[in-house]
Amino acid sequence: MSNATKLIHSIPVDPLTGSISVPIYQTSTFVQEAPGENKGYDYARSNNPTRAALEDIIAQLEGGQAASAFASGLAAIDAVVKLLQSGDEILAVDDIYGGAFRLFTHIYAKFGITVNYVDTTQVVNVIDAITPCTKLIWLETPTNPTLKISDIEAIARIAKQHGALLCVDNTFASPALQQPIKLGADLVVHSATKYLGGHSDLIAGIVVAKTEELGARIKFIQNASGAILSPHDSWLVIRGVETLYLRVKEHSRNAQLVAEYLLTHPAVDMVYYPGLKTHPNHDIAAKQQSGFAGIISFNLKEDTLEAAKEVVCRTAFFKLAESLGGVKSLLCHPATMTHKSIPSDTRRAAGVSDSLIRLSVGLEDAGDLISDIAQALDQLAGVLSRQVETEAVVQL
Ligand SMILES: *Cc1c(COP(=O)(O)O)cnc(C)c1O
Repeated sequence: MSNATKLIHSIPVDPLTGSISVPIYQTSTFVQEAPGENKGYDYARSNNPTRAALEDIIAQLEGGQAASAFASGLAAIDAVVKLLQSGDEILAVDDIYGGAFRLFTHIYAKFGITVNYVDTTQVVNVIDAITPCTKLIWLETPTNPTLKISDIEAIARIAKQHGALLCVDNTFASPALQQPIKLGADLVVHSATKYLGGHSDLIAGIVVAKTEELGARIKFIQNASGAILSPHDSWLVIRGVETLYLRVKEHSRNAQLVAEYLLTHPAVDMVYYPGLKTHPNHDIAAKQQSGFAGIISFNLKEDTLEAAKEVVCRTAFFKLAESLGGVKSLLCHPATMTHKSIPSDTRRAAGVSDSLIRLSVGLEDAGDLISDIAQALDQLAGVLSRQVETEAVVQL
């Protein structure tokens, strides 16, 4: 059976009524027959049938034993960190999602959990940095916004040798393209806000565990801390995920075409997309992913904040907004948006140059998207050549 068929038929038909859509159980509590005697549900923070259906679907999709759905991707990340205790160390990818960096640095550091950031694209860096206190290795692959790729299978082996858990933030690839648990990861987290939801209409997060035992520990944390996903948002994620394979395949196809176009444009300097042969980790991406998803970053030959601003304000179909993974194409300028709070030298050292632009390639026609980017870049090239002419005149 193909993965798409398996996914679509993992969405249960309601046993009570035959409803083909999972019902939204909008309730806080469940009536009990006698104290402690119930139908598997007692209080809706602990469990809810709509949320449980979503959790089962995503657990199967990722090849894990259990999943827990949270109110946001960050709440999901937070639940994983709560597996640790004071004195434990996290070894994390250096190009980590900014919100995860903020959570680790500004919340967990004061509880005695430390984080060591390394360039995990080189496996040797992980071997060098791991210590007896390392209890969690944190990967994102591909990363945001420079699309770095780390070798999940190789790093899973190192984690196992040292008794550390490996958690992979699989938001960018989605389980349609990459299944970290099958490559040896213990935990997978998602911002379901992105490809799983897929329609830019909700905030949600998921943790998937490789084993029942680890899944039960996350479930305990979910119930104890309370950052659950609502029944209605659980239903929206289920509805989004029904078309995951279809959407991600098309996002990937469109993005490959846009990335190849960008390579040819005279105003563009570097293009970061794992599907390009020029990407430094293309081979690893091709080994562990079945496609390259819809996120592309690129920077301009004129590497200034102003030049990037010219481009991002001139597109019609690519809307200027944070977030990614929806049906509508989005673009953002990390230096003045998502990475604004990072000092410019640190930001540039991490590869986020002044003109870096990140695209979330949507499901519009690829030709229309390319024309849209082309006209924005062409105008920039026009601006540049006019500047050159003006300078020439001044020199005369
Ligand atoms: C958006 C995002 C998050 C955070 O998820 P929210 O749903 O916004 O809380 C975490 N990791 C990655 C890679 C993301 O893109």
